[in-house]
Amino acid sequence: MVANPTLLFPERADRAVRSGPAVSEKLLAVENVSLEYRTRERIVRATHEVSFDVYGGDRFVLLGPSGCGKSTLLKAVGGFIEPSSGTISLDGQIVRGPGADRIVVFQEFDQLPPWKTVLQNVAFPLRVAKKLARAEANERALHYLDKVGLAAFANAYPHTLSGGMKQRVAIARALAMQPRVLLMDEPFAALDALTRRKMQEELLRLWEEVNFTLLFVTHSIEEALIVGNRILLLSPHPGRVRAELNSHQYSHDSFGRNDFQRSVARIHRLLFEETEAAQ
Ligand code: ADP
Ligand code: MG
Repeated sequence: MVANPTLLFPERADRAVRSGPAVSEKLLAVENVSLEYRTRERIVRATHEVSFDVYGGDRFVLLGPSGCGKSTLLKAVGGFIEPSSGTISLDGQIVRGPGADRIVVFQEFDQLPPWKTVLQNVAFPLRVAKKLARAEANERALHYLDKVGLAAFANAYPHTLSGGMKQRVAIARALAMQPRVLLMDEPFAALDALTRRKMQEELLRLWEEVNFTLLFVTHSIEEALIVGNRILLLSPHPGRVRAELNSHQYSHDSFGRNDFQRSVARIHRLLFEETEAAQ
């Protein structure tokens, strides 16, 4: 057991080494958040007193084994679940429900209504939530579809697209809403390895081009190191903060390098030791 995780990773976040948005103020504050599900028989504690801060321009990753409460945490930030204790605040305001300032991209390919074209999928939430007129919504939708390389598919229906393309539409739809924080729950987990890698690269390129702040959930250590500039490592069920570390120095080019492999091994050890200790 590691009594004080911050001692393991004393280097704190010197963020945004990539040339993306300048990191600025604290956007999201998660403080001592415990999350529970009440089933008929018992109470399932999904996370225990989890705290972290996300700053403007961060690519903040929640990393941990399956069942450690990552999705539950993301849903709580999204305002869909209320903490049983602790607080979540965005721009200093306590989160009390869902809002257009936090948009989620999920793993599933079926998050796009199939009866709407690609353009309609992206434009519709802009008309409803942002009250944009049709022309303005379409214009903004096309702008973001272009950013993900899908402007040519604006009039296609989702079933004609590959899994990777559907995820690009979901990302364009989320970015078009210009949320304060973009929430992603294992968005590339259902893709084949090559597409997944390509999508990770695209996400980083988008982050450099478009000014956004990311809270990203994954159980893949490699993905966390590549996508994130900061990683919160969660222990197994119920999820507790195991460590927080910096990962801004890594990209796909880092894969074979010693320092990357050492970081992978170090995180593996933390997850593995914790799993053993829990059993
Ligand atoms: P992760 O996303 O890290 O895999 P989840 O947040 O989905 O983990 O789940 C955390 C824990 O909460 C797990 O033990 C899971 O079984 C439990 N859980 C998730 N959803 C529900 C639910 N609707 N009712 C009861 N327990 C749930
Ligand atoms: Mg999950």
